[in-house]
Amino acid sequence: MNIMLLGAPGAGKGTQAAKLIEAFGYAHISTGDILRKAVANQTPLGLAAKGYMDKGELVPDMVVIGLVKARLQEPDAEKGFILDGFPRTVVQADALGTALAELGKTLDAVISIDVEKNALVERLTARRTCKQCGAIFNVVSQPETANGVCPACGGELLQRDDDTVETVTNRLDVYERSTAPLIAYYKDKGMLRSVNGNRSADDVFGDVRAIVEA
Ligand code: AMP
Repeated sequence: MNIMLLGAPGAGKGTQAAKLIEAFGYAHISTGDILRKAVANQTPLGLAAKGYMDKGELVPDMVVIGLVKARLQEPDAEKGFILDGFPRTVVQADALGTALAELGKTLDAVISIDVEKNALVERLTARRTCKQCGAIFNVVSQPETANGVCPACGGELLQRDDDTVETVTNRLDVYERSTAPLIAYYKDKGMLRSVNGNRSADDVFGDVRAIVEA
């Protein structure tokens, strides 16, 4: 299965991607993860992307389109992939369609995880990610993580640089302006499936899994 996860920052795309990977073993294609790795390694890509990311702006379309095209051709994408955080603009969605056609691949499901707007700021500022295993937690709903230690592997829990209140507000504005139109884009193509994301990660996954297994 080739799956796209759509949703606002904080909707739970990364969490659902991790559950899909655990259950089905698909390749995870997260442009945010690729870019954060490039920033951490101070590669030319990372140095170019950091300014946009720190402000909560989108990295230019041509940059991320190139990354995803290359990533789709890696061998692990053969077993199925999950697009998480890409596309984020109509230009990216059009480019994805062209790239998939060129590669002889298709999208099997576009899953929109819908979360009420006022819950997103709280989720994003409470988000912590394990430096070691990448697991994602919420310090408010999972108070056992407030000590900064990953309950899964004992690694250090970090807050993303762009999960501060100032940057989050801009990211949500950018989402409304540039990315939310993709919901109508895929609906018009008859590909969109929506799940209610205002629930526990496990409950949301019940619906996601049902779509994937249908
Ligand atoms: P994410 O981890 O998906 O929330 O992405 C973190 C940041 O990386 C975003 O706020 C953007 O600055 C950048 N980014 C990730 N994916 C994309 C994309 N598809 N297009 C443009 N910028 C992106």
